[in-house]
Amino acid sequence: MHIVSFSRLQLFQQCPYRYYLRYVKKLPEPPSEALELGKAVHTAVELIHGGMPRWEAVDRAVQNAALPVSAAEVAALVRKADIVSGKGEVEAEFMLNLDRNVWLYGLVDWIVLKNDGAVITDWKTNRIEKDVLATFQLDLYAAAAFEVFGARKVMARYVFVRTGSVREKAFDAPPEEALVWAKETAAEIIEKGEEEENFRPKYGFWCKHCPFAMQCYALWGRM
Ligand code: SF4
Repeated sequence: MHIVSFSRLQLFQQCPYRYYLRYVKKLPEPPSEALELGKAVHTAVELIHGGMPRWEAVDRAVQNAALPVSAAEVAALVRKADIVSGKGEVEAEFMLNLDRNVWLYGLVDWIVLKNDGAVITDWKTNRIEKDVLATFQLDLYAAAAFEVFGARKVMARYVFVRTGSVREKAFDAPPEEALVWAKETAAEIIEKGEEEENFRPKYGFWCKHCPFAMQCYALWGRM
């Protein structure tokens, strides 16, 4: 059985060699401020959903972060996440079958099921919205809402908590293009096996933020 996730598929598509180091060789990536801020916001929102007062949830989330994050910034971002305590489910896990023995694992930030429909929400702390909108993440989560959570129509939303802007997409059926992308990308990863030379680096602006840049340069000799 092979299990992939949207973030793994996306990382492989961006740079197969970084994928190899992170997920085949299992090298840890050091925490980044952006990542820790995003995690703190998600933790606080989850605690608020569970009934904790907002200030306490923010305080707890900030204390749990692996790097110092600003409580004021987390509080401001959480204020724009339109969570309702106790409504629906947060961090809803799913396993979506992509192919015979290939599964997509994911966590929906917030899902509200009503009658035969579902509203799914993903909170984003990203500064650049277009990079997020260009991916298949929301489509794959919508597919899971149909096939795992049993919805017959889905409204999928990104809430960008820096600006409060909301981008919605309505689905009447599982989005075929996203599922084909996920299935084909997963097949490509599986076919490569575990040999380092099968995972070629793909250079781009993302190299600036790559924690494995020195290792990559040492092996492949180019930045
Ligand atoms: S430095 Fe760039 S090309 Fe090399 S592994 Fe990192 S992302 Fe890939």
